[in-house]
Amino acid sequence: MEIESMVANSALIKAREGGGSKGRSWRWREMFRFPHISQCADLAMTIERDYYSLCVKQPIGKQLFQLFCRSRPDLQNYISLQDALDAFETKSDDLRRESGFGIIQRFFRTQSIQCVSIMLQHEQSCIQRLELDPCLDVFHECREDLHKLLSGEPFIQYQESMFFDRFLQWKMLERQPITKQTFRQYRLLGKGGFGEVWACQMRATGMMYACKKLEKTHVKKRMGEAMALNEKEILEGLDSRFVVNLAYAYETKHALCMVLTMMSGGDLRFHIHNIGEPGLDKKRVRFYAAEVCCGLIHLHQKSILYRDLKPENILLDDNGHIRISDLGLAVRLSEGKLVRGVVGTLGYMAPEVIGRKHYGMSVDWWGLGCLIYEMTAGHPPYRVKGEHPNASEMERRIQAEQPEYGDKFSKAAKNICSSLLNKDPEQRLGCQSSGGSEVKAHRFFRKINFRMLEAGLVKPPFKPDPRLVYCSDVQDIDEFSSVKGVTLDQTDNNFYSKFNTGRVPISWQNEVIETGCFKELNTFGHEGSRSPDLDW
Ligand code: ADP
Ligand code: MG
Ligand code: MG
Repeated sequence: MEIESMVANSALIKAREGGGSKGRSWRWREMFRFPHISQCADLAMTIERDYYSLCVKQPIGKQLFQLFCRSRPDLQNYISLQDALDAFETKSDDLRRESGFGIIQRFFRTQSIQCVSIMLQHEQSCIQRLELDPCLDVFHECREDLHKLLSGEPFIQYQESMFFDRFLQWKMLERQPITKQTFRQYRLLGKGGFGEVWACQMRATGMMYACKKLEKTHVKKRMGEAMALNEKEILEGLDSRFVVNLAYAYETKHALCMVLTMMSGGDLRFHIHNIGEPGLDKKRVRFYAAEVCCGLIHLHQKSILYRDLKPENILLDDNGHIRISDLGLAVRLSEGKLVRGVVGTLGYMAPEVIGRKHYGMSVDWWGLGCLIYEMTAGHPPYRVKGEHPNASEMERRIQAEQPEYGDKFSKAAKNICSSLLNKDPEQRLGCQSSGGSEVKAHRFFRKINFRMLEAGLVKPPFKPDPRLVYCSDVQDIDEFSSVKGVTLDQTDNNFYSKFNTGRVPISWQNEVIETGCFKELNTFGHEGSRSPDLDW
């Protein structure tokens, strides 16, 4: 490896280790200086007063609302109950029954000092469910009732409190403009169609991210505006542990930038083909397939068709969990509608795509079949190693041939692949009315506990080595060529301003909380004082 590469890698590895408070700029408090509350007046007038958004969905909003309730003796038990219900969701299956009964004893019984009286009516049904199967959504109605209660009087009083003032101050920080100075840049990670992807670190919090840059001239020359905006808008509407998160969208003089969850473990193509014998062991195949399956279900629930499933686009994080990335080809389907268009990567395209038919979610289930096949066999279903059939031969095979299942395939693996690779989308696994749940129920996944998997409670079978950088050496990634003869004008600016929306609230708020910045900064002055100490 060349010296330049080694230096770039060790800088990145060091930053990753220090990720979090150690990576913060020494000026970090200054970057987070709260505006005076009088500067929040406009925001206070325009912000939508929606309980669910302000007190449930937005992480900082939720924290401040909870702090408000804790400051009020008559509301404390509600928040303790909410915490207990949240904690219940993170319990592994074997601890759920015990934890559930604990909640009932603490909050559902008149003799308990923490009794929440509106819960009494749910006691019997919750006990029944816990006894039947603690993995059910035991406390669903309880949670709903609690929200109903909190969204009334408490929510109104919260908006009159210093805690809501503080929320507005955080929202103002959230809206600060983003510049190049907001981030520190590390090594180049990869190259995409419109530009490069770099490792970067948010200076104020120390959080590591991957910044996907789209060169403005390239986008314009290849008329990629709609595609870029589409990718950004789809990503910003998602919130899944199985799909990369968008945290910031901004522009520089030359590029549009999407700041995404950092995935340091490399892509599945690398793991399948570049480490030892091609292919992965059974446990990893099953685990990655299950996580991808959950990611696809999340997308499909939001009516988003992904269309680009292949090993290259499935990335590993430092713990070994995967996320689906590169949503450049994803489309939102309007209700019941199908789309057309030959897009994707040839080797992974479904027969209905190649056949220029209208299609829907079926093509993603085909893609999952290709993925499971390739992870198992060490090569994609319709092409063997070292072979480069031309496009029409590939199309013929996809439409007419059955892949071969060697002895690396267990019965269940063979069965799920051939069901997902059914040429007829009407007959394919995952394409019936039950959708993805049919895939999850396949016996290939019988050892996967999907509830735990979706709650992030399953330990990955493989953890990437934190001292390795799982991508090509810096000098092996081709330089991004420049485009000449393209001039940018006013119509381009209109598009850029649609793209340049800055921080994505939920991602940014999570970042501020996870890195500990929220806790360190969110102090209040003397009891009852409303503003003097808010501005320091
Ligand atoms: P394109 O849409 O142009 O193909 P991608 O989104 O696939 O761009 O990104 C190009 C490359 O950058 C990927 O193949 C991968 O190596 C790297 N990359 C992309 N996103 C991330 C990420 N979140 N973390 C780490 N590396 C990434
Ligand atoms: Mg890509
Ligand atoms: Mg793309």
